[in-house]
Amino acid sequence: MKYTASEKEILSLVTMYNGISRKQLAELSDLSQASITKITKKLIDDDLIMEGERISSGLGRKEVLLYSNPHKFTFLGIDIGGYLVRFALSNNSMEVLHQEEFFMDELDESHNKDEALLERLNQFLKRTNTISSNIDAIGIGVTGLVDIEQNMILNIPNRKGWDEIPIIDIFKKTFSCPIFLDEGGRTMAIAEKTLGKAKEIRDFIVVQIGFGIVSGIMINDQLLRGSSNVSSLLGHITADENAGRCLCGNYGCLENIITFPMLEIEYKKRNGLYSSIGEAYKHNDKIAIEVCVDTGKALGIALSNVVNLFNPNAIYIGGPIFDVLPMLLEETKRTIILRANRFATLALSLEENSFGQQQGIMGALTFAKINFISQL
Ligand SMILES: [Zn+2]
Repeated sequence: MKYTASEKEILSLVTMYNGISRKQLAELSDLSQASITKITKKLIDDDLIMEGERISSGLGRKEVLLYSNPHKFTFLGIDIGGYLVRFALSNNSMEVLHQEEFFMDELDESHNKDEALLERLNQFLKRTNTISSNIDAIGIGVTGLVDIEQNMILNIPNRKGWDEIPIIDIFKKTFSCPIFLDEGGRTMAIAEKTLGKAKEIRDFIVVQIGFGIVSGIMINDQLLRGSSNVSSLLGHITADENAGRCLCGNYGCLENIITFPMLEIEYKKRNGLYSSIGEAYKHNDKIAIEVCVDTGKALGIALSNVVNLFNPNAIYIGGPIFDVLPMLLEETKRTIILRANRFATLALSLEENSFGQQQGIMGALTFAKINFISQL
């Protein structure tokens, strides 16, 4: 069944604000109350959305809240990071039903990465008793460069052997549903926009750091792609040309300074005595704190440049590195405020992202649903 642009808009809004009244839908969509009544009736008749509890809207009137019908669709998200791969299945309310992860290096020996990934995916589906034909859409987010027209992973800078992988073509042998592919920072931005803190924010940046750096930039409610779909490559901007060679081939990339492995190397280089920087940080080790201050400054300088260029309303920062080393985040924020133009920071909010370590997989799942709705 084909749906109109207005019907899809209402479906998207119910996905975003799961539990929303018709009055709020009218306000957010600029559609008339009469149109909203008609559209929601059709969407309820088609089992796409459903009515929930009544809430008081003041003046004694009660409003019925509308929700996505959780059982209508099932989505599969695949988050391919430089370090971990995550699979997750969600219902139509974006609740994760099953999730698994494994290390990327488990696929190092495989000659055909896409087929090896598919094999792991099939095992996951088998363990969760999921039939591939019951999946309605698949979203794949990759920490690397993708060609979304040719449905191909072009390169994962942190991993060898992931060049020109026609991942969708291989997956189509098993799945008949739509499969969507994009860069992981962009899918993370979609999750923040749809389900997270950025629902009403039009200009924002998501930054996720663990074993690599991923970022997504949304300007005027549009994902920034650039002319060759390469934009937002924050991890590979040059931060210190005298620093070592990056796996991407360039010298002194931001990823050469601030990722888990790089912080460990820096900590050891400064003669840190604990087994890891995380362990040292727990004991208030001076060297660990100095490394956090110096690297937080490097990230803060890079992001202050981004703030001056794009003047976002918010930067949502997250990832395991900040959970282990919270001071890194404080130093990053401090440097952004200090270095970026004061008129650009007036309305700038620096916050942790909504899903922490789940940002990537929530990105892949949300990306699947949003694209799926647009094709209904
Ligand atoms: Zn690089």
